[in-house]
Amino acid sequence: MGASQQIIHELLAEVVKRNPNEPEFHQAVLEVLESLEPVIERHPEFVESGVLRRIIEPERQIMFRVPWVDDDGHVQVNRGFRVQFNSCIGPYKGGLRFHPSVNLGIIKFLGFEQIFKNSLTGLPIGGGKGGSDFNPKGKSEGEVMRFCQSFMSELYRHIGADVDVPAGDIGVGGREIGYLYGQYKKCTGLYTGVLTGKGLTFGGSLVRTEATGYGLVYFIEEMLKANRQNLANKIVVISGSGNVAIYAAEKAGQLGAKVVAMSDSDGYIYDANGIDLDTVKRLKEVERRRIRAYSKYHPTSEFFEGSQGIWSVKCDIALPCATQNEINEESALKMVENGVMAVAEGANMPSTPEAVKVFQSNNVLFAPAKAANAGGVATSALEMSQNGMRCSWTFDEVDSRLQDIMKNIYNQTSRVADEYGCEGNLVTGANIAGFLKVANAMMAQGVV
Ligand code: NDP
Repeated sequence: MGASQQIIHELLAEVVKRNPNEPEFHQAVLEVLESLEPVIERHPEFVESGVLRRIIEPERQIMFRVPWVDDDGHVQVNRGFRVQFNSCIGPYKGGLRFHPSVNLGIIKFLGFEQIFKNSLTGLPIGGGKGGSDFNPKGKSEGEVMRFCQSFMSELYRHIGADVDVPAGDIGVGGREIGYLYGQYKKCTGLYTGVLTGKGLTFGGSLVRTEATGYGLVYFIEEMLKANRQNLANKIVVISGSGNVAIYAAEKAGQLGAKVVAMSDSDGYIYDANGIDLDTVKRLKEVERRRIRAYSKYHPTSEFFEGSQGIWSVKCDIALPCATQNEINEESALKMVENGVMAVAEGANMPSTPEAVKVFQSNNVLFAPAKAANAGGVATSALEMSQNGMRCSWTFDEVDSRLQDIMKNIYNQTSRVADEYGCEGNLVTGANIAGFLKVANAMMAQGVV
């Protein structure tokens, strides 16, 4: 084992020991540290100054009780989290996730990834993430509102427009952000851009709703272009049917691709004619129903129980946009056997390490989440700029900035991969490019 491998090995052992029972966090740290081997060889100062040991430890972790009263008058208690991971290049920035699977390890993995993603956008934002094990599914409007108010009654004292600016993630969309913002304003009396993803009538930015999905597709276009390909007439499979999935499907369709399958946690729909996105939007965004209902309106389509099966659908391009570790080695092998040419991650860490290896060793073009789904947070940073300037940019203006940002992220990621001897490996390129900016800032700011 070389000296840099030894350092990585020791750091990982430390992470596992200090953060027991947090497998997703270990997985996220392992992926980044493994990529940094050539950086450690060239820059021993990052080890000597403790940058590596500091970057894997959150600056602050907040856990709190979230009590609320359900419609039957019973008191419910959930747990809230905010992990403020790294503020070296700007205020903490990252979404809030409301899902029953949420725990500290999941929030830490997401917060850690967010440091590098935010750095890649080129905008001044640090990394953080938060959420709760609250399940919005099946709850009434009143219950969701009371939960959000209770959550913010504690969170407000830890955030601020120049401190920490949360946004949405799984289970937190425009409705939840509205309730959270209302309560923040009530608690503090401040009208500031403390949350992003706000409604357009109270400081939200055009394109923020579409940004992660659109950005993902802009990134793929760049990746395909560099390989003398494009999206026209490609068959696309997209997991999930939430915010990221819907707008990835919309932009892919606009660029000439045909999306044939989408899913939720119950199962997936397959429509050889191409998914009708208006139906998906109505079911998911307006009526908050399950994806299985799609087949009632489109008899030529089929619903299949179980979300994992979506990866057996033959396609040219796969966009995992649901959740972490949704593509395992077996699914990846099936996708390769079916001739997939590109995989781009809309969700955070949707491919297991084994799945990533399968794609890379079979020359599948692979776009990692940190780079490919950074359009959402980048547009959130544009929302912060507009709030700070008390102005609103047009749809085309924000969209054009988003396109430039995604293009820059692709170029930067690909160039850094080349510079460090890993041509075409965007996982390594994204991790190194994201890390270098933060690490240099940490060096400059001293041991704090
Ligand atoms: P939404 O809540 O809008 O949608 C999530 C979708 O994924 C739903 O269709 C949901 O189905 C499905 N899903 C969630 N958990 C599971 C699971 N355990 N198994 C199968 N399906 C599941 O979330 P978003 O679209 O905002 O987020 C999706 C992914 O994108 C997440 O990984 C998130 O971290 C990432 N992301 C989001 C950004 C954003 O701007 N929103 C920015 C960058 C990344 P069901 O309704 O049945 O639960």
